Parts: sequence; C-alpha cells; structure tokens
Amino acid sequence: MTEPLDLKKTVNLPKTAFSQKANLGQSEPARLKKWKEMGLYEQVIKARQGREKFILHDGPPYANADIHIGTALNKILKDFVVKTRSMMGYEAPYVPGYDCHGLPIETLVEKKLAEKGKNKNDIPVATFRRICREHASTAMTGQTRDFQRLGILGEWQTPYLTMSPEYESSTARLFGKFLERGYVYKGLRPVYWCIHDQTALAEAEVEYKDHTSPSVYVKFPLKSDPAEIDGALAGKNVFVVIWTTTPWTLPANMGIAVHPDFDYSAVEVSDAEVFIVASELAKAFTETAGFAEYEEIARFKGSKLDRLEAKHPWIDRTSLIMNGEHVTLGEADAEVELDVRFENKAAGKSGTGCVHTAPGHGADDFHIGKQYGLEVYNPVDAAGNFIAEVEHFAGMNIFDANPKIVEFLRDSGMLLFSEKYQHRYPHCWRCKNPVVFRATPQWFVSMDPESSPPSEGGVAAASADGVVSSSIQNPKSKIQNATGLRQQALDEIRRVKWHPSWGEGRMANMFKGRPDWCVSRQRSWGVPIPVFYCQACDEAIADPKIIDHVADIFAKETADAWYARPESELLPEGFKCPKCESSDFRKETDILDVWFDSGSSCVAVLETRGDTLRFPADVYLEGGDQYRGWFNSSLSCGIAAHDSAPYKQIITHGWVVDGEGRKQSKSIGNVTAPQEIIDKSGAEILRLWAAAVDYTEDVRCSDEILSRVVDAYRKFRNTLRYALGNLDGFDVATDSVPENEMLEIDRWALASLNDVIAKVLNGYTEYNFQAAYNAIYNFCTVALSARYFDIIKDRLYIFAPQSKERRSAQTALYKITDSLCRLMSPILVFTSDEAWESIPGQTVPSVHIGEFAKAEAVDTGLLTRWERVFSIRDEVLKALEEARNAKQIGSSLEAKVLLTADAETTRFLLDYFEQLRYIFIVSQVEVHEGDATKVEIQKADGTKCERCWNYSVRVGEFEKFPTVCERCAAALTEIEKTASA
Ligand SMILES: [Zn+2]
Ligand SMILES: [Zn+2]
Ligand SMILES: [Zn+2]
Repeated sequence: MTEPLDLKKTVNLPKTAFSQKANLGQSEPARLKKWKEMGLYEQVIKARQGREKFILHDGPPYANADIHIGTALNKILKDFVVKTRSMMGYEAPYVPGYDCHGLPIETLVEKKLAEKGKNKNDIPVATFRRICREHASTAMTGQTRDFQRLGILGEWQTPYLTMSPEYESSTARLFGKFLERGYVYKGLRPVYWCIHDQTALAEAEVEYKDHTSPSVYVKFPLKSDPAEIDGALAGKNVFVVIWTTTPWTLPANMGIAVHPDFDYSAVEVSDAEVFIVASELAKAFTETAGFAEYEEIARFKGSKLDRLEAKHPWIDRTSLIMNGEHVTLGEADAEVELDVRFENKAAGKSGTGCVHTAPGHGADDFHIGKQYGLEVYNPVDAAGNFIAEVEHFAGMNIFDANPKIVEFLRDSGMLLFSEKYQHRYPHCWRCKNPVVFRATPQWFVSMDPESSPPSEGGVAAASADGVVSSSIQNPKSKIQNATGLRQQALDEIRRVKWHPSWGEGRMANMFKGRPDWCVSRQRSWGVPIPVFYCQACDEAIADPKIIDHVADIFAKETADAWYARPESELLPEGFKCPKCESSDFRKETDILDVWFDSGSSCVAVLETRGDTLRFPADVYLEGGDQYRGWFNSSLSCGIAAHDSAPYKQIITHGWVVDGEGRKQSKSIGNVTAPQEIIDKSGAEILRLWAAAVDYTEDVRCSDEILSRVVDAYRKFRNTLRYALGNLDGFDVATDSVPENEMLEIDRWALASLNDVIAKVLNGYTEYNFQAAYNAIYNFCTVALSARYFDIIKDRLYIFAPQSKERRSAQTALYKITDSLCRLMSPILVFTSDEAWESIPGQTVPSVHIGEFAKAEAVDTGLLTRWERVFSIRDEVLKALEEARNAKQIGSSLEAKVLLTADAETTRFLLDYFEQLRYIFIVSQVEVHEGDATKVEIQKADGTKCERCWNYSVRVGEFEKFPTVCERCAAALTEIEKTASA
C-alpha cells in the first residue's frame, strides 16, 4: 500500500470560473466591449440569414435629455421582444431611432441664445436650425451610450434620425402622398393653441389638469316671435339661457345649439321674465340662479327652436339657434375630452341644454357652425389678446378679460349667476399654461371625405390674415379619399392585434372622436411644409411632383435647404404659376407637426434600409400615451402610403411609478434613475425588474423593490453556479448518459425542464415576460434548488467521477444549464452569456447567437409520480426539522426515518425504496404499512462515514478503507482503479 488516501480529495467538489459574486458594475462593461469587438449583433443577424423576418419597429425617443426609468423600461421590453424572436429562429433586426425635431429643442436653443443676449429672429433660420441639429445630435449620443449600457443590441452605429437628410426627404415626400390622395387641405379651423408659445398644438401635446374657471349663466334675448314656439309665450319677454366656463369665447358667439329630441321648458319667474332651458335641468337651473319659484308655461321639443334667432347679449349680432346631436344633459365621457369644446361637454347638471356656440373656438361649434353656415369667427390674436373690433375688451388678454366680461354682463343685466368652477382643462404639455381653441389658417389632414376642402375638390389656401382666398384643383382627390381616412383607420384597427386587448377599443375611440389632424406648426425646427404661394395671385402650389423635386434637394442638403435657398432654386427651373403664369413665389413658413415626422418612419425607415426592414412591421411597442401619439400618426401615414396599418401588432406598457404607486417626480424625491441603478447593481437588475413586473399596467419601482430583484438575481446566479460547478470535467460527447438509462429522478428533472421550456416559450410568444420570468424563477427555486440539487448533491460528490450514477445527474445538469441559459438570455443578457462560457463543449461563442431549445413532449406521468414523492418528502422534511429543533438530531444524515403509510402508498414507495434515503437526505429509511401516514425520526444506526457523513452499520468492515461506508468503499476502489489505469 502506498500513501494513505486523502479522503477529502476523493470527494468531487464543484469547480467553476463562474463566480458567486456577480460584480455586474464591472463585468457588464467588459462584456459589452467584448460584444462590440466580436461584432455580436452582426453575428446574430448573420446566423439567421434567410430565415423568416420579425420586425420590431422602434418608436423614436425624443433626443433631448438623458434617459429616465420609463425610457429604460421601454427599451428593455423592446429588447426582450427582439431577442426572444431571434432566439425562436427569426431574423430579428433592431434599428433604433431618434425623434430630433420639435418644440422642446427649439425652446432650449432659444433659451441658450437668450443667455447670450441674442434673439432667434436675429439669426438666419438655417443657422438656428444648425444649432438645434447639434443639440439633438449631442443628446442622441448620450442616449445611445445609455441604451447600449442596458445590454441592448442593435444598429447603434447607424440609428435612424428624423433630422437626417434621407428622413427629412421621405417626410416631405409623404406629405406629397397625402396631398395626392386628397387628404390635405388648408383652412381656417379652431385648433388647440398655446398663447404662450404662440403655436398650434396637436391633440397629443395637450394634457388635462384641474383648472378653475368662472362658470356663468347668460341670457340671450329671443329675437324671433316667441309665439312661433308656443302660443302661451305670445308677448312674453323670453330669453335662451346658456352656460359656459369660458366667458372670453362669448365675443365670438355665433349661435346656440339645442338637441332636437330633448324636451325644453319655458319657465316664468317672478319678475316676468321667461327662460328657455332643457326641461330636465329646469329645476336645478332655477335653484342655482336663485329663483324661489317658477312656473313652466310651455314645454316643447328642441326641434321647435331650430333656426329661430336670439340676440347676442351685448354685440349687435344675431345668435342663431341650431339643432345639434352633440348637446348633452349628462356628464361627459373622459375619453372624448379630445374632440369637443371642453366646457360644454363636461357641463353635466350645471348646463342648461342650450349650448353657447363659437365656431372659431371649438370643434363641435365649428362642425355645427359649418352645417348652419356660420362664420368661423376668431377675434383672438396669436398672443391671446382680443383684436381691435371686440367691443369693450379690445387688446385685453382673454384670461384677464374673463372676470371683466362677467362684471360687464352683471352690470348690463344679462348675467343670471356666476361662480368659480373647477374642471379638467387642457394645458400645453411644454409650458404647462392653459391652452385655448382658436381658429387659424392651418394645414389639415382630413379624417372624412366630406370634411376635406372648404372649396371644390382641392386644396384651399389661406393668406396670412386667415381668409381662405383661393384654391387649386386636384380632381383626383375626391375619388381617392372616398372612404375617408377615419373609416380606413377603423377598418385597419380591427385587423391589428392589440396587447393588452383593450388597446383596440381605445385606439378605435381615438379615431372615432378625433377631429381633422392639424399638421402645421408655426415653428422652425422641423420639416418645412413644402408648399409655395404665387406672389401675384396667391395660388397655393401644393403639388406632389413639385414636392418630389424639393425632397430630392432635402435628400442631398437636409431640409435646411428650404431656408438657405431662394424659391427659384427650390422650384423646378422655369416653373410658372399654373393660374397666372407668374414666376414669383414665396415659401410656406410653417413646418410639419413632429407627429407627422415620427409617423413617417413607417416609410422613411421601414422602406429605406435595403432588405433589413419591411413594411408593415410586426410590432410597435410603446407607452400607452402613444395611442394619441405615434401609433395614431403612424396609422394615418401607413394608410396614406400603402392603404394599410404599418404594424401587425401593438403592444403597450404602463408608466413607472414609485413603490406606493405614485408618479415619480423630482419634487417628491421618489425618482429612480436608471444610471444610478446600473452603477449600483448593474443593468441586469433593471432588466430582471422589467421582466418580473406586469408591464401592461403601471409598474412600481423603488429601492426596496429593486433589492428584492437583487435577491431573485442571486437565486438565478446560484442556480447556474451550482450546475456549472458540477459539470467540471464533464465531456458532453463521451460522458453523456442516454435518457432511457438515466436514473428516474434525473429523467424527472428533464421532464420538468421540458415543462418549463414550454411555459417560457409560451410566455415569450405571447409577450408575457412576467409569465416567462415566473416559470424560470419557480423552476430555479423550487424544482432545482429546493429539490433536485439538494438530492443529487450526495451522488455528484460521493460517487466515483466516472460512475454512471454521477454521469446521469451530470447529463441532466448539462441539459438544464444549456436550456436555462438560452431561456434566460433575452432577460439576463450578461449573466446568461457569462454562464454560457463555462458550459462545457459549447460550439457557439455567445448564447445570443444560439436558439431556444425546442420544447419536447412532457412525460406528465413522471411528473405526477414525483409530485407524490415530493409531497411525502415535504412531510418528512417537516418531521426532520422538528427533530432538529428538539436537538434529537444534528444534521439530517444523523437520522433514520420510519415512515408509516397506507397499503397503496407503501406499494408506491417500494418502487423508490432504494432512493428514499437520498431523496430525504437521511442515512436510513424504513417504510411500514399502517392506517395513516406517520413520520417518526430516530437516530441513525451505525457509525458516521468519514467521507460521505452518512451513517452505516457497515463502517469498519472494509480493511482497506476502515473509516468509510460500503458505498464509499466501492467508490474509492473504483477511483483507485481509474487512477492506476
Ligand atoms: Zn405652451
Ligand atoms: Zn399666380
Ligand atoms: Zn460514505
């Protein structure tokens, strides 16, 4: 006999380069560098060449400031989609983009100029745009760095930019397409208007906040003979009573709308005045207005009032009474805030059923005014001051004028009642000031065929003072716009898939209710509306062919050319006004709405990247605010370009809120900055958080929530580390055991794995990342950590390295680790790739190049049998725990389990008899048949084996290995044999 054997060295302890401590703060940047050097994204794409494509089209974040937690969530979810589809075998390119134009950058640059004592108007527009361009470029660089740090793979070297020459050119061309199809007109219309920024706003650019307005009941004397309504009113002093919360719109009153089918009452009050209000609201009205008693002297349908005339309360003007279906008596639906003259739809019980109508200040007002031929009268200038002709209030700011108008009405006896009224009111999302509805000459995309041009069949132009002055003929328009954009959009919305499913209704409501899309902005940083006006005859040159010519110039020089070059260099050579032959033109000064910009991406990006992308995309994934924004404008753009939605599926996510569900804000101090989380814990933690939450609702994030995510991360990491440690020296090719020769518990582990693969792939397919996360988490913590790993530890450590028992467990471990790494890889991008490097025998350099294992049929019989074994095990573990607490035993290996069970259970357990001691992790087990299940714990028989710590009565029997048990003696003999061979 040679050297005495060092027993400790004969135990197969785990060994792996995959450390317990993650150190993500350092290891992630190192791995990112490695990915960049090896061209990982390009390798992934190359590996999928020729496969079916899956296109997630990136909604461009605004290139203004650093990314925040919401942007991080958005990008991570997109990365989940792209990576899961790639791992499913699709070619899934990711082309990130940036939204570069728009008011925020413009405002910022204006502020910077002001700091230097300069004004925007002092410098050429082209120079101003260059500064904006530089600002967007800098912000974009910062965001790209942050997004890449999150582990997101994509074409980061060549993202799409809405300010790039190709993109600006595509946007201009698409506007031409809208024109060609007859969707575009220019007209005087009320639009959201910010008097502070002095620009029109899109629906997406207003936000509703509480606001206090004066609420007033105003008398409009009836001019028509009241006997026409009812004989009982003959000779009476009759007034129509309106209610409004915007007294400043009264100078623009042109009419009063009543519902044709509602009942209206003429009520006589003590001082011999008769008021017409909706019958249902008569009592509430008289109480509010302070009339102790009233008498209803007539009741009639609103249709009786149609086309009668009232008098404006102080201006010498007729106010026409009209029948309108939009008049309500109840509370407004919050969702329809968008398209209505807010104050009257929200009237509820405060109203009178007689709606003050100012076509220059409201969408409903505009529509009914158009039906009745009312003038679209807007007496408010861009800065929010009344123009000179407004009697008594000329030059006054409208909000300052509100109380003065109320006083004036009181003094003139036309006011019945006034009070303060708190309500939801639209505010400018930039400057946070209340916005107004104001009629201005704007470019519109019409939603309905009949709403398009105010003149015959074409594009109408308006001169600077807002008077629609001329039009050009576009005979094709009417025909091509026969269905109308709204109807086409509604048809497409039904075809698109929505996740969550309520998105369909929400989007449909958006389109059902939305007014025509005002696409012009009185700003500089954007794509100019490529239209010219004849200086001689004011003809608008809005011609797709001319626009293509201009777009060619944009493609070479950016849209800055519009400002840098004179009209003659932008128009085709020798171009003459088709109406008067003049060759003297001026350029349109308005730019396109930024939502038109980003909406154009469905052609400007999806169709300009060679074979990489295609129209339509498979998925758009953004926050819920994009129903109003990008989803919305993209749908119109897709229809204009190809009569189709530009996406097959829409996925939306909620907002990130704090741990208590409150909005994150700097002033509360509850903001979780992604950069801080990354520095402290790693991007992996943010990613894991994004997977663990239900993103379809508002998502909570706080330090406490993140620390729980860190705990979960440790569990995933420990799972991988255990498996990798025990695969040390395992040669997949030569050491694997065929499944039918594996131990049953190892086959159970593989059946569980198949079950998990199916669940995870199902979750990924349905974009339910939380379900995938939960399946992986439960598999790691329950099936593996608490059961399988515990049980096979003895076998892995104690059996001879080459023994079939150990190889069987290793084969299962190998398959589990390999599959788990793939399944985790879309979420834990860094850790799965790190673990991948330690899996023996991998042929692909990164897990991300690999694909998911296909789910095999799950042996459910096996799973059911083992569920039964484990439920008995749970009872045994409980008894062992009690024995340990009672100091009856120390480690569970000191125990012998006496299990009593009914006849059937005993028979079931007999099949597992040999394995029960390993399953329970005790030294001995006896099973007895009895009446009910009972577990008794005794001290194990025999002596503790020095090598495996199990107790055995046979320790000492083996001459060569006197301190070990029979199992270890056999293992040692085999180890010696292998060593000497
Ligand atoms: Zn504003
Ligand atoms: Zn002309
Ligand atoms: Zn032993």
